[in-house]
Amino acid sequence: MVERERLSKRSDLDLRKVLAPLGEVLRGSLMERYLTCGNPDCKCARGERHGPVWYLSVTLDQSRRAGCTVPGDQVEQVRRWIENYHRVKENLEKISDINRELMRRQKDKNKNKKRKHAGK
Ligand SMILES: [Zn+2]
Repeated sequence: MVERERLSKRSDLDLRKVLAPLGEVLRGSLMERYLTCGNPDCKCARGERHGPVWYLSVTLDQSRRAGCTVPGDQVEQVRRWIENYHRVKENLEKISDINRELMRRQKDKNKNKKRKHAGK
C-alpha cells in the first residue's frame, strides 16, 4: 500500500524512467579522452590535444576489460542507456526486496493457519 501511494505521487516522466525499456541498457562508463597523434609538428605536441574522443569502458571481471570508441552522434544515446542500466538494476533490487517481504508475510500466514488448526 505504501508503495502504491508513493507511485501515485510520482510524475509521468519519473514512472516512464522506471519502465526504461530493457533493451536500452548498457553497462559501462563513458570516458572523455584527449589524445596526441604523435606528429611532433602538430598542435597536440604543444599541449592542444585532439578530442574529445569518447570511449566506453566495461569491466568484464577482475582482470578483464572491454571497450570501444563511441562516435560523437552516439554519445547521448550511450549516456542514456548507461543511466537506464543503473535504473533497471535499482528497480530489480526493489522488486526483489518486495518479493522477500511477501515471502515473509506468506510464512506468517501459514503459521497462523497451523495455529488455528492446532486449536481445534
Ligand atoms: Zn596531433
